[in-house]
Amino acid sequence: MPTPPVPDRYTSRFDQTYDVIVVGFGFAGAVAAIEAHDAGARVLLIEKMPDPGGISICAGGGLRYGTDKEAAYEYVKATNAGKTPDDVIRAFADGMVELKDYLESLAHPVGATVEVIHRSANYPFPGFDSLSFVQIEQVPGLDIDAEYPHVHGTRNSRGTHLFKVLHENIKRRGIEVRLGTPALRLITDRNGETRGLWTGGAAGARAIAARQGVILACGGFEAGTELQEQYWQFGEVRSVAFRGNTGDAIKLGQDLGANLWHLWHFHGSYGFHHTDPAFPLGIRVKRLPDWTPGVNEPKVPMTWILVDKQGRRFMNEYEPYFQDTGHRALERMDTTTQTPANRPAFLIVDELGRQRYPLASVVYNDRDLPPYTWSADNLKEVENGILEVAQSVEELAAILGAEPAQLQASLDRWNAACERGRDDDFGRPAGSMEPIRQAPFYVGKVWPVVSNTQGGIAHDAHQRVLNGYGEPIERLYVAGEAGSLWGHLYLVGGNLAECFISGRIASDRVTGLPSWDQPSEPDIKHSDAMTPA
Ligand SMILES: Cc1cc2nc3c(=O)[nH]c(=O)nc-3n(C[C@H](O)[C@H](O)[C@H](O)COP(=O)(O)OP(=O)(O)OC[C@H]3O[C@@H](n4cnc5c(N)ncnc54)[C@H](O)[C@@H]3O)c2cc1C
Repeated sequence: MPTPPVPDRYTSRFDQTYDVIVVGFGFAGAVAAIEAHDAGARVLLIEKMPDPGGISICAGGGLRYGTDKEAAYEYVKATNAGKTPDDVIRAFADGMVELKDYLESLAHPVGATVEVIHRSANYPFPGFDSLSFVQIEQVPGLDIDAEYPHVHGTRNSRGTHLFKVLHENIKRRGIEVRLGTPALRLITDRNGETRGLWTGGAAGARAIAARQGVILACGGFEAGTELQEQYWQFGEVRSVAFRGNTGDAIKLGQDLGANLWHLWHFHGSYGFHHTDPAFPLGIRVKRLPDWTPGVNEPKVPMTWILVDKQGRRFMNEYEPYFQDTGHRALERMDTTTQTPANRPAFLIVDELGRQRYPLASVVYNDRDLPPYTWSADNLKEVENGILEVAQSVEELAAILGAEPAQLQASLDRWNAACERGRDDDFGRPAGSMEPIRQAPFYVGKVWPVVSNTQGGIAHDAHQRVLNGYGEPIERLYVAGEAGSLWGHLYLVGGNLAECFISGRIASDRVTGLPSWDQPSEPDIKHSDAMTPA
């Protein structure tokens, strides 16, 4: 196929003109569009997929919220381990304390209710106990299947309710939304100042002007295989929820010289691959409660252990927030064989474990994939081959390709640790330990799986995209996961909080700029918006 021509970066012939263009219709894009509209801008919100929602619509739905700015700042600063500038963290912490009022301002007009749930943060850093979640309690009458048939597995999730609230706010304001419309390339003047962008889609390439600026809210690179191959040690990791996020913000931004930060960091666990190649998403293992070391420990059994190809345990399967860091131990490289040591690893349960609860759950936004629900008794997955059955440890070892004696020794050691109530090898919390001894045994291959990425475009505290020298690229802003601030350890609920906070900041700044085609005095409130960082 011939390569399509690269659109003209410097075109001044625009098909249409808006004040602000927002790229991506997830939470960050929706908030940015609402705020820009409310500030008086004529807004265009474009989304490359045929349906709205992105990863956002699959989310659990809790936004991290705090009432104490300083405590929130201290906590987030500690988790970022120096990788994200202090003023960016400060702006985020300031935004956290406003989230409840802000969410109420969007929820109440559409009849939805909001609730606050106190839940400490994941690690015992200063400020961890000051934090809560704020979320949509209910959108009366919402029928998720009817309204969002492309979304699967979210009936109990507050995230879809949250999306509905934003969607309704977009509709009620009459904000123009174009689905199936990707941003292809940014347009600039000869000095590199953003002027708009080229869109694609069924209508063909269009040059759209953005008189105040462009906000990139087009997510991370969960499905960006090229970027994963380049920046992650073992390359591709399957996305668990969505195939639309291919790292386009990174490409769009880099085209204009954007700097990047912490691309290595992603939020993910270990999970299964479906045996049907037509189901290309990863499947996260069951979400069990998070815990905080030294503060509280989980009292819920985790029915499985993981072993490597030799049949040896190699990790604490239940780290404090294993849905976030669970993939990390699977990324170890065996330097002798130059291969991943634990990828895939093997998840083992016994008959009691198989019966206790579903080992995984599936949530995704994809109209082209068939509905898939993990079975309550895990037997459908035995039938379709995601799990294999072994009547004895010997048979189990044969499935792994391990020495039976080694696997038996691992199971004996684990069962002895369960009896003792202490895992001296990897520190698994005692309340989660269950012996594995009653045949038949069940085993499934597990790989790292990515929920969402935590690195992307570097930005300042105003959400301005920065180049490699730390200078802003004029009129180019980023919001949400496309420029995620989480540099080292993630805070549960932090991504959604970031979508809201960064979407608001980006809109506030961009709508404070004079239009480039009608220069006027900048708004006093935003008079620093054009100064280099
Ligand atoms: C199962 C699951 C549960 C989660 N639960 C939580 C939770 O409870 N709390 C929390 O804080 N975080 C949670 N997360 C993470 C959180 O959902 C995401 O980090 C967040 O929703 C990202 O929002 P976003 O608006 O930045 O991106 P998205 O919601 O992914 O939106 C980006 C949009 O941009 C579109 N796009 C991409 N490229 C282009 C282009 N070139 N042109 C136009 N459009 C484009 C995409 O199609 C997409 O619709 C969860 C993640 C998963 C997978």
